[in-house]
Amino acid sequence: MGTTPLIDMLARGIGSHAAWQAGWDGYTEDELLAVPERTATAALDALSERLRENYPFFHPHYAGQMIKPPHPIAIAAYATAMLVNPNNHALDGGPATARMELEVVQDIARMFGFATHLGHLTSGGTMANMEALWVSRMLHPGKAVVFSSAAHYTHKRMCGVLQIPAIEIRTDADGRIDLAALEEVLATGSVGTIVATMGTTSLGAVDPLDRIIPLARRHGVRVHADAAYGGFFMLLALRDAPPIHAAPFRHLKECDSIVVDPHKHGLQPYGCGCVLFRDPSTGTLYTHESPYTYFTSKELHLGEISLECSRAGASAAALWTTLQCLPLSSEAGLGAIVASTRAAAVEWSALADRSTSLLPFTVPDLDIVTYMPRTAPFTASSVSAASENIFRTLMEREVRPIYLATLTVDAAAIAVRHPAFEADRPTAVILRSVLMKPEHRRCVPELFREIEAMAMNITNGENL
Ligand SMILES: *Cc1c(COP(=O)(O)O)cnc(C)c1O
Repeated sequence: MGTTPLIDMLARGIGSHAAWQAGWDGYTEDELLAVPERTATAALDALSERLRENYPFFHPHYAGQMIKPPHPIAIAAYATAMLVNPNNHALDGGPATARMELEVVQDIARMFGFATHLGHLTSGGTMANMEALWVSRMLHPGKAVVFSSAAHYTHKRMCGVLQIPAIEIRTDADGRIDLAALEEVLATGSVGTIVATMGTTSLGAVDPLDRIIPLARRHGVRVHADAAYGGFFMLLALRDAPPIHAAPFRHLKECDSIVVDPHKHGLQPYGCGCVLFRDPSTGTLYTHESPYTYFTSKELHLGEISLECSRAGASAAALWTTLQCLPLSSEAGLGAIVASTRAAAVEWSALADRSTSLLPFTVPDLDIVTYMPRTAPFTASSVSAASENIFRTLMEREVRPIYLATLTVDAAAIAVRHPAFEADRPTAVILRSVLMKPEHRRCVPELFREIEAMAMNITNGENL
């Protein structure tokens, strides 16, 4: 099975676009737009030079932050649609890509099990979450939004923007929202919406949505699922033998709203989030003049059900084309990809369990792994110093650099798991890897061995 080179796909898109353009009367491009070839080449070469400052996000040895390039088919589709540059805020700004947006949003809603929905793409998870919180405020004016201390930092920020009282709740030792603390807050009657994070950005921890939904129903509050990072793991929850804890995901269909970021695990370039509401009549909140039926109409103007106005139609085109090739299937397409990244995390975690120089921090729920060097003395200070040292040394070495990320955690959370650990300061720096590329799976043993060897050197004092 061969892969079509990106350059061929781009040429195909550009060729089709030129043929489409040729259907109109010829005209001359204004000379004000002309850029001499040498100037263009020099500018592009300067750009390429500047871009070398980046880390190699594409490479499996980049096992750091939640970043990877889009799939080539997404790039080709985005570029092809961008030649037209449709604007998905309205049907007359981009009729073709607006229809594609409705189709992909429907596919995503179906994946989560929503029988009805209203939704659209956004520029990202932050805007999508803000929109869900804005709706929450209109439906529960004056009531608070609660989320865990591990929820994405933008929830607090957006509550500030929207002037919604925000309540932050502690997490348990695994980084999930503490249900006892949540229940206490719900009992006060001050809460309008619970935000459940389906995969926290730091640990990938999944809040127990299966337990949160009944609590929310009892207290008459809304539930918003922030599945910006973890949403596509839903495909694994749909399997007969799910390789993740499926119960929280299987309750997503009962949430009032869900956010997922196709620009994280959906192989898309940045600029692609998605917000879904289970109740289509949510649309009436956006513009009060429009009748309810308007929002179920096929001739929907996306700008009338979104906070943002202009949005790249190319984003919808890229996602639509990607899903034609790599569908939302639990066994193939995107499902097979998240199964592979999940398997890499499980294997990593097993290796860390058996290692003599590294220790796991939490057991991964999805595909983010957190771990730390076994230092002597086993204190927050020495773990932090060794983690920083491993991180920097691996990244800065000339031969085969490896890119990890660091994460600051409560030292007490380490002590809970490892009685020998001494929390000599309130926080500790540990190591974190987002294993979000399917290529990571084959590299796990080799990557882990190298990090282990570095940890061994450093904790033996060779690099300190
Ligand atoms: C990334 C992320 C966000 C923010 O989304 P952006 O697309 O970066 O704006 C919100 N919540 C979670 C859980 C995330 O992982």
